[in-house]
Amino acid sequence: PLVLGIETSCDETGVGIVRGRTLLANAIASSMDEHARFGGVVPEVAARAHLEAMTPTIERALAEAGVRLEELDAIAVTSGPGLAGALMVGVSAAKALAIALDKPLYAVNHLVGHVGADLLQGEGLRPAVGPVGEFELPTVALLVSGGHTSLLLVRDLVSDVELLGETIDDAAGEAFDKVARLLGLPYPGGPHIDRVAAEGDPAAIRFPRGLSLPKDMARHRYDFSFSGLKTSVARWVEKHEATGEPLPIADVAASFREAVADVLLTKALAACQDLGVPRLLLGGGVVANARIRELAAQRAEAAGVTLRVPPLALCTDNGAMIASLGAQLVAAGHAPSTLHFGADSTLPVQQIQVT
Ligand code: ATP
Ligand code: MG
Ligand code: FE
Repeated sequence: PLVLGIETSCDETGVGIVRGRTLLANAIASSMDEHARFGGVVPEVAARAHLEAMTPTIERALAEAGVRLEELDAIAVTSGPGLAGALMVGVSAAKALAIALDKPLYAVNHLVGHVGADLLQGEGLRPAVGPVGEFELPTVALLVSGGHTSLLLVRDLVSDVELLGETIDDAAGEAFDKVARLLGLPYPGGPHIDRVAAEGDPAAIRFPRGLSLPKDMARHRYDFSFSGLKTSVARWVEKHEATGEPLPIADVAASFREAVADVLLTKALAACQDLGVPRLLLGGGVVANARIRELAAQRAEAAGVTLRVPPLALCTDNGAMIASLGAQLVAAGHAPSTLHFGADSTLPVQQIQVT
């Protein structure tokens, strides 16, 4: 099926077009620059930016794919989770298109969309890790971004996704952004920490791994916590500044990055092992981190786990992954959503489609 997908859960306005598993267009506009001076995504600013970017981004996607709106078989849109005001812009646009064109509409889960990104194939499109075209289930999926740190068990993309764990406080990307700020690096901090860390010693400082959550705090077996790590970096920086010595930014960045990568991959591979699932899929903007991908590759190989990372352009938020999940729902014969759904900022991952 020929499906157009709309994504507006955070700061990216994404419109993608797919035909089944084939990627035809992936148009993205980002309001990241507008949030830089606030040091984080401002919901109101993001929502306004989506409204302005929506029509031009739809037009760009159609031009890129060489497709006319009338040819579409269905429209898919992110219903949640995400920023409520931002989601509402995408949901409204998708409903308007569906009504005007009289096309079926599929309201889908953003996190499951990240997994759907791995299905996509196209000319010049190569997974960041793993062979082209292979997508096997069940798989454990680790999704890490500015808003999410979630570990999923995907048995079936359109009917069976289970939450194994998620962050109980900050998301991994949020931790990167906050620590970057402590070190005087610009927002978004992830890429800057990555760059600076390359010159540093990851073993210079032993930051806490935040692995042993008190049992009563963790809701799931593989929950994450990053606020303790961030605080411990802040304390270390404060203590060091008191000595009057220059801050070893590279060593702090490298040691912090190592702690994040270690925690993420220890839990992800423990889940693979415990559940007897020899496959791990990574997704989300934080996967751009070089050390996370490197450590993932090393540990997966040692554990006999097949690692897959979609092309990095499809790891950050985009409309193509939403179109991909929509196409799978259509292909599986799922009924379209009614027009009564809304934006659900806390949509649980088990709910793959909102009807
Ligand atoms: P959502 O959480 O809804 O998916 P988002 O916009 O917060 O949305 P992304 O755009 O996927 O998430 O990712 C942005 C985050 O990824 C930021 O926190 C950024 O610092 C982080 N990031 C980007 N590149 C790197 C990197 N090389 N290393 C670590 N973190 C990175
Ligand atoms: Mg983003
Ligand atoms: Fe995302």
